[in-house]
Amino acid sequence: MLQLCDVVKSYDGKSTVTALAGITLSIGAGEMVAIMGPSGSGKSTLLNLMGGLDVPTSGEVLVAGTDLARQSEKERSLFRRSHVSYIFQAYHLMPTLRVRQNVALPLRLAGVPAREADARVERVLAEVGLDHRADHLPDELSGGERQRVAIARALVTDAPLLLADEPTGNLDSARGKEILALLRSIHGRRGTTIVMVTHDREAASACDRLIRLRDGRVEDDGAAPGGAR
Ligand code: ADP
Ligand code: ADP
Repeated sequence: MLQLCDVVKSYDGKSTVTALAGITLSIGAGEMVAIMGPSGSGKSTLLNLMGGLDVPTSGEVLVAGTDLARQSEKERSLFRRSHVSYIFQAYHLMPTLRVRQNVALPLRLAGVPAREADARVERVLAEVGLDHRADHLPDELSGGERQRVAIARALVTDAPLLLADEPTGNLDSARGKEILALLRSIHGRRGTTIVMVTHDREAASACDRLIRLRDGRVEDDGAAPGGAR
């Protein structure tokens, strides 16, 4: 699903910062992987590259066999829409839209007809256990429920790759565990490839594989301790 070959990413400013200093790794379809590492070790940069939000300074990033750096901005954006979905620590829901409208957004953007979109929204809301909240506003929901809405929005396009940035970061431990269990079951049921950046040990143990970054390099890559497998 993901192949990175000698990926370097630097940012030019007053001085050049090398965020990733040569990353080579591959993540197979259907893997569930945690990325950990100290602040500044390159986790967000890596997630951005995997999602095609940014391109490497050198090296190759292949997502489902496609080299995103060779695509135009426009091609990349279309590719992202169908292949990659995201969830974030802070949910990033639209506050003025109802749950069902938030979940429908990626389908609206993709031009899916309303009737089909409605049916798909119903289905994913049931899948995350929130069908009874479809007409609520995000403000009327708990943090765990908001993250489930965000997960429903991520699932609605059937993208094969789900990138998560601190998905449990705003939740207490019990709510965090529920979200991890949900991601785990989605992974099992749909075979979605999941890559999450996290500081949460519980989250790492919900994954099969743990990649540790330090100073823009892979320090360690192996089975997650206490992991699901
Ligand atoms: P992490 O997510 O592990 O905290 P980041 O990928 O955010 O790490 O950052 C890695 C390094 O790259 C840090 O030194 C950070 O300051 C730098 N960096 C990240 N984004 C930018 C940017 N847009 N411009 C300049 N430097 C950046
Ligand atoms: P922060 O890390 O400061 O909380 P955000 O929550 O906005 O910032 O985003 C977290 C990370 O999620 C970004 O640094 C980036 O890695 C990723 N991200 C945000 N938006 C997108 C997007 N549209 N496509 C891909 N990755 C994204």
